[in-house]
Amino acid sequence: MAELTDLKIAAETADARPDAPIRVVYVMGAGRSGSTVLDTILNNHEDVIGVGELVHLFIEGSAQKENCSCGDARDACEIWKSVRERWSELTGRSSITEHERLMTKFTRVQRLAIPEWHRLRAANPDPDFAECLKQTHATYQAIAEATGKRVIIESSKNPLRAKLLSLTPGLDVRLVHLVRDARGVAWSRMKPFAKSKEGGVPQDIKPKPIHISAGYWLFMNFLSEQVRKTFPEQPSTRIHYEDFVSTPERTLKEIGEVAGLDYSAIADRLLSGAPMAPGHLYAGNRVRTAGPIKLRSDMAWAEKLTSKQKRLTWLLAGHKLRQYGYDRQPAPQSQIETASNDSLRNAA
Ligand SMILES: [Zn+2]
Repeated sequence: MAELTDLKIAAETADARPDAPIRVVYVMGAGRSGSTVLDTILNNHEDVIGVGELVHLFIEGSAQKENCSCGDARDACEIWKSVRERWSELTGRSSITEHERLMTKFTRVQRLAIPEWHRLRAANPDPDFAECLKQTHATYQAIAEATGKRVIIESSKNPLRAKLLSLTPGLDVRLVHLVRDARGVAWSRMKPFAKSKEGGVPQDIKPKPIHISAGYWLFMNFLSEQVRKTFPEQPSTRIHYEDFVSTPERTLKEIGEVAGLDYSAIADRLLSGAPMAPGHLYAGNRVRTAGPIKLRSDMAWAEKLTSKQKRLTWLLAGHKLRQYGYDRQPAPQSQIETASNDSLRNAA
């Protein structure tokens, strides 16, 4: 992995920018881990813009499907309109099709983008990669200019995108690996959702079998751990959704240390039950369109999953769950609720 870091240093030397790097906090891990809730709360810091699942901004078809959390469609939201326009100026491209192709090439998790990343280690790396980094930097520069914020928080979750951002000259990337109990993730993925643009569900979501979800959870967490190991010099942390819900002030402090931000005022507001503004998160799950949000301890899986489903998930993912500190028999919901701050209880 040293070669990849060398590659970034070489690229930065060749393309030295007088301006300070743009600070990016990237949330990675498995889907349905609570990243949209986290991103929404982090976005409430005055120096921060939370952008949600930014990858969808560069998918041509998503303009018809996705809304911004401000309630506007992508092409109607003032922020995303000016980001797209500025991006076109910076890259000299009127269409995002090429960026969509490059992002697919280098960050497609399904096939690990293996041939592409392998070629990067060769003496003459793929010229597409340099172009991809340039366009990625342009995205962040456009967001920084459009919002005037000094820290950008993205929660696309894909760990390969975290790797790509970490190699992009001009970005100062901090990594947050978000973990939620695999059984909660599996339960969430078992629920079907009907398409509803207003509700933030861009297409029908079919239920996923439990063994597929366990494999997906293991894979995404494994990749996230690998990315953290690849860039040990970058500030990073691993947080757990369950801790965030029960003691948000501690988790926010931890993220604040990684991001270089003081989150104590936001934690106080959250603990007092104040609503959190949804900001301009792009894509992500349906929570973002629900207006002000409060945290809730979602342990429904403990009652809803059958014993057989719980056993199967533990059989497949138990070794990793144990490593992350999860118990095979979690505390009953009532105890967790009592331990949580009153103002945060099951508000949703
Ligand atoms: Zn918006």
